[in-house]
Amino acid sequence: MSKKRIYLSSPTMHGEEQKYVQEAFDTNWVAPLGPNVNALEQEMAAYTQCGHAAALSAGTAAIHLALRLLGIGQGDIVFVSDLTFSASCNPIAYEKGTPVFIDSEPDTWNMSPEALERAFEKYPEPKAVICVHLYGTPAKLDRIMEICERHHVPLIEDAAESLGSTYKGRHTGTFGKYGIYSFNGNKIITTSGGGMLVSKEEEAVKRATFLATQARDPARHYQHSQIGYNYRMSNVTAGIGRGQLLHLEEHKAKKKEIYRKYREAFSDIPEITMNPMNPDGDANCWLSGMLIADNSEITPDIIMDALDAENIESRPVWKPMHLQPVFAGYDFIPHNEDGSSVGERVFNRGLCLPSDIKNTDEDMELIIGIIRGCFGK
Ligand SMILES: *Cc1c(COP(=O)(O)O)cnc(C)c1O
Repeated sequence: MSKKRIYLSSPTMHGEEQKYVQEAFDTNWVAPLGPNVNALEQEMAAYTQCGHAAALSAGTAAIHLALRLLGIGQGDIVFVSDLTFSASCNPIAYEKGTPVFIDSEPDTWNMSPEALERAFEKYPEPKAVICVHLYGTPAKLDRIMEICERHHVPLIEDAAESLGSTYKGRHTGTFGKYGIYSFNGNKIITTSGGGMLVSKEEEAVKRATFLATQARDPARHYQHSQIGYNYRMSNVTAGIGRGQLLHLEEHKAKKKEIYRKYREAFSDIPEITMNPMNPDGDANCWLSGMLIADNSEITPDIIMDALDAENIESRPVWKPMHLQPVFAGYDFIPHNEDGSSVGERVFNRGLCLPSDIKNTDEDMELIIGIIRGCFGK
């Protein structure tokens, strides 16, 4: 195809990244530790006010380590958001735990506090709750925190998509016992690949770093008393992260502007609603999404095909975990009393729109024109 590709969300580099990477080369710190790693941890801790941070090879690794810190093992029940990327719950399987999938609520598309309450009635003693902030929109954290605290169950916040989002003025990822961020290629800032585990508890983060470096005991010889992992971030990629972090607020402002443009452009089409915001939060708008009314003949596939024909990338909403073949047989707690699933409806009727901050005004006009055309506008 000769037409320029318009992306969903691709990396946006600024130049400072190369400066930090060059420093790593100049000092020969081309290793899974070094000054950029330490600095990125400190800079992220300062930015999010998370307390302490461990830079890791992936967000998935961060979730895995959070579960290890909580001692999740064979048969332990973990409540996890149902409408999410599989990385939120794969680590439960690594530890042979038992996921129970919690439906979304319509207000934010995130974990339903009502479904979470019902999950506790059915399974009174889960070992952890993993709550996702989907597409950057903060979950109803007050209610979810209150439920978790009442049941004395630790909360892990999967803030992989919501770095920069706040809830009542505080950064997502800093409410739970542990929080995780991702720096994967299409996230709001990227290190090409990487992640971070954060916590107020310094000892826990130290222990995560220990597990992430093959759990090597402090002895001169190589001694190990526990199973560890090779999960540390490299000093080269941490350099990319340091350069990116300087531009996170700018990325967020641009993402919010993209969302605002879509919302305004579709405001006269009653069949379209945008992905929800949380009035108690300030979302990073990582991906703009839309939901098509049930009674409309237009399907997400029709829109994705129309965009694809113009070399424009869009994608479906995450397919809920309880519908995944690999997780068949695990329990699902729906939001609605009648047993119907909010997440499934969002999956069937929603899609993610191009949210790349490099898209020009002309690109946005093209995208909007194609979508409006699908609705006969
Ligand atoms: C991207 C993502 C992850 C995983 O992060 P990686 O850095 O790719 O391992 C986890 N959860 C959610 C919701 C994500 O979108």
